[in-house]
Amino acid sequence: MPDEPSPDLVRELETLADQLAARPDHADLAARVEWLIDVMILRGQLPPRFKQLAAKIRGEKSKVQLAMFRDKYALASPDIDCAARIPLCGARCCSFDVSLSAQDVAERKLPFELDQPYMLPRVEGRCICMDAAGACTVYDHRPGACRAYDCRHDPRVWIDFENRIPQQR
Ligand code: SF4
Ligand code: SF4
Repeated sequence: MPDEPSPDLVRELETLADQLAARPDHADLAARVEWLIDVMILRGQLPPRFKQLAAKIRGEKSKVQLAMFRDKYALASPDIDCAARIPLCGARCCSFDVSLSAQDVAERKLPFELDQPYMLPRVEGRCICMDAAGACTVYDHRPGACRAYDCRHDPRVWIDFENRIPQQR
């Protein structure tokens, strides 16, 4: 079983797939990327589910959105003082799209949109799992994207993280 790729690598590969899908020569690029991914899977450098990236570049739309984290409990979370910052950031991260992984679906601890599997439902732009005080009600079982997310350099959240200047909303 290959090691789980780092969240940074997963994010970079997904971004690359999105960028290549937007190019007019994406059919040829998809074939090349698929070959590269196949080689990496055969060498044990990537888990087999990464084959779906080539389909994404070809523009094959699946209604099913599955995050590629294999074991969310093995993910490290960045050391961020969220409780102290929520009055500033408004827990902006909990308004972003989050898809569940196969592990989340198998666990059955988290809800998902029935007509948009397996996205976390949102109500009025906020994750349905957030309570009125801004706390996560499913913290121990929260998805991999929530665990691995690092807002420090995300301009959607901060103008200046170190100096605690939040982005305008
Ligand atoms: S936006 Fe950053 S500081 Fe605010 S709750 Fe999310 S991770 Fe924590
Ligand atoms: S599951 Fe928890 S941490 Fe993740 S978006 Fe929802 S409220 Fe935020």
